[in-house]
Amino acid sequence: MLFILPLSKNEIRARHQAAILQVAKEQCPDVREINFEVKSILKDEDHPHKIRMSLFQTDEIKKVHRKVPKKQEVFVVDGIRSKMFNQRYTLHNFIPGKDNRLAHAACQAVSVKPGSIYNPLFLYGGVGMGKTHLLQGVGMEVLRQDPSKSVVYMTSEKFIQEIVEAIGKRNTKPFKERYRNVDCLIVDDIQFFGNKASSQQEFFHTFNELYDAGKQIVLSSDRPPKELDGLEERLKSRFSMGMVVEVLLPDFETRMAILKEKCKEFEVLVDPDVLEFIAYNVSHSVRELVGILTNAIADAHLTQTTPTISSVAHTIRSLYKDHEFQGLNVDIDKRIVVKSSDDLIDLVAHYYSLTKSDLVGSDRRKEVMVPRQVCMYLIREMLDQSYEAIGDCFGGRNHTTVLHACNKIGFALEENSRVKRDINALKREIGLV
Ligand code: ADP
Ligand code: MG
Repeated sequence: MLFILPLSKNEIRARHQAAILQVAKEQCPDVREINFEVKSILKDEDHPHKIRMSLFQTDEIKKVHRKVPKKQEVFVVDGIRSKMFNQRYTLHNFIPGKDNRLAHAACQAVSVKPGSIYNPLFLYGGVGMGKTHLLQGVGMEVLRQDPSKSVVYMTSEKFIQEIVEAIGKRNTKPFKERYRNVDCLIVDDIQFFGNKASSQQEFFHTFNELYDAGKQIVLSSDRPPKELDGLEERLKSRFSMGMVVEVLLPDFETRMAILKEKCKEFEVLVDPDVLEFIAYNVSHSVRELVGILTNAIADAHLTQTTPTISSVAHTIRSLYKDHEFQGLNVDIDKRIVVKSSDDLIDLVAHYYSLTKSDLVGSDRRKEVMVPRQVCMYLIREMLDQSYEAIGDCFGGRNHTTVLHACNKIGFALEENSRVKRDINALKREIGLV
């Protein structure tokens, strides 16, 4: 079990040992004691309370941009293929905001009793709103509740392609017969049926066959049935027979909840201010919202830094030219200007969540000492000040102390250390890298 809490091992042991032991004994009566271990990658000895992405295992982050082979299909029944479900698209991890609660509830109702209510279920909405997520969520949930059911998920393009192939091969077995044994047919993006007369015809027969047999049909489109151009009237009216729900753009709170859910899935922690900044500024599509977050995580991983508001703003600006930033009053063009050692002390203190007096004071704990040494190093490197002058900025310290600090940080930079990541992130804040 992994606790991602700013608690020490001892605190967790003191507070939760008994409860954990009790649960463990229920599963496995022989358990006598519980050992607590802090996963070494999570250790942040310098600064135990700060959430830092860079502490997380690289393998976990790699998952985020791992490529999934495109062609993933399974044979379901009678030669009928279904697209594989994306295991991440469940009804459970779909966040139902106030605007798409109805769509989510309808999907849940359908998955509990397919073929009895809301048939067909027709979801429509703009690009990146979560329609595919919901459709696949229904499919997986139907299967979870009854693994013997044959669930077929496909895009309308795939359906059209199969029809074209069947016609080409003079395959006489009509589609509707082949699809007879399907219990739940899910077709995504049916707007592509427009003006494809023979495909529409086949789909109409298949639809009727399944509907009459009490099988569930779930459809999605970018617009409501009546606005589907080039679609026969009889199909439009069939599509409207059950439940038609719009999947709407989520509000700010829902966007925040989605980002937090995605961080949980990716197993990373990102500063809540950064999440808030993304939620404020990427409001037109959930796909783009999630995309920016994924980008920020991957970018931070590659550059060995932590996603900051300015790094995320930079990504957003590169994608949407002339974007007007909202919330938190951030202007990315206003890079932090460092003119004096005082500016650098402010910046470093803020970065490590310390006060200025902590940094220049005499506290010798590691979580203050290291940031102090980092600050001395940066002043020396960026402002080229003498060791004596730097010592003066830090409460009149001796120049040998400053020399030692600069050497120490210089050595740390040679390694792939925490200090290296911090210095990279700080330089980024100033716009140096
Ligand atoms: P659409 O099919 O409407 O174009 P998708 O279903 O592909 O959109 O959604 C795009 C991305 O947004 C997916 O990664 C999906 O998981 C995510 N997403 C959309 N809405 C939600 C939500 N309410 N909760 C969680 N994730 C969501
Ligand atoms: Mg889709």
